[in-house]
Amino acid sequence: MNLSYRYRLYPDEFQREFLNRLIFSYNQFYNASLNLIQNKGKELYESGTKHNDIFKTLYTDLCNAMRNREDIVYKTELIQEALRDAFRVLFSLIKQKKPFNLHFKNSSRFTGSFPKRQTMKFSKKISLFGIRDIDVKVHRSLPSGYRIMGYRIVRELDRYFLVVNLANDADDKEMPTLPATQDVIGMDINSGNLTFSNGLKIDFIKSVYPELEKKRLKHQKSLSAKRKGSRNRKKAQKLLFKASRKIKNRRKDELHKRALGVLKAVTEKVIAVEDLNLKEMTNRKQGNKTLRKNLLHQGHRTFLDLLSYKATLFDRFVIRVNPAYTSQTCSCCGSLRKAPLSMREYHCENCNMTLDRDVNAALNIKRLGLSLCSPSLSSES
Ligand SMILES: [Zn+2]
Repeated sequence: MNLSYRYRLYPDEFQREFLNRLIFSYNQFYNASLNLIQNKGKELYESGTKHNDIFKTLYTDLCNAMRNREDIVYKTELIQEALRDAFRVLFSLIKQKKPFNLHFKNSSRFTGSFPKRQTMKFSKKISLFGIRDIDVKVHRSLPSGYRIMGYRIVRELDRYFLVVNLANDADDKEMPTLPATQDVIGMDINSGNLTFSNGLKIDFIKSVYPELEKKRLKHQKSLSAKRKGSRNRKKAQKLLFKASRKIKNRRKDELHKRALGVLKAVTEKVIAVEDLNLKEMTNRKQGNKTLRKNLLHQGHRTFLDLLSYKATLFDRFVIRVNPAYTSQTCSCCGSLRKAPLSMREYHCENCNMTLDRDVNAALNIKRLGLSLCSPSLSSES
């Protein structure tokens, strides 16, 4: 599994200037790499030259081209990273037989990797690329059991971040071995709340923040009124970016809190949820596709990803089940009936059961989750 942890950096004025120069240089290296790959690299590739040899050749070319430029910081580690990043992008295009669509960078980030033996240690300060003692806010320590794969420096307007990429040996493609346990709870997720198979309900976040949205909209309007290329437009862009960032951060923060809240509120080892990817596909088939819904699903998906990740930290699991008919099936006798969304209660005419609609769905999700955990148990229901 891959993870990334993000830490805010607080560079002083001198460090800030140097970081800016590094970011600029990285972009120059990256763009030059794209050019080289497009011309010479592609030719070499098509003539059957090995990947490694292409890299070596291009690396030499790149160094020669960059060595005497005075506007950049000449760092071989940075050149290697840029070339590697460009390789990764373009060769994945070649593999998928897609055309070379070059996206030249003018971004505000650069990537780097730590030498293999160096473990990253930082408490309050970190040294990067020869810049010593940059203040860093360590709001959480790196997780154990993960290796550091590399890092990225990201600049967002006036803020700087260190993003550490981590990996452990667990294979993404393999389903984790699920425990043979009866300790399963089902969770139904809809726009308003989370409902559990034991009847518990937790408020889910509202995806909009009216006061913040209003502010953002105001900046958006003001931006569109500014003349292109003007200084005022740049100012307005900054304000808009800040307003959007505030909303994004608020949302992310809330999702983290909610995910942790769920893990505290229920004690079961396995939490079964609907597979939203499958759900979206059925919705699309039914023509039930609106922008608002998609945005909502996006939020739900991020939330479930966070929940899955946090669960593993506590040695628990989130499993995803097929969402088909979870809201139409009677959790008691298994008979099917159409239930319009407006009906808050599920009533079964077959066995005469009446139950809260979401609880009924959560019970069905639990049953499906149980059948995934331990096949022998599913025959009971
Ligand atoms: Zn029934």
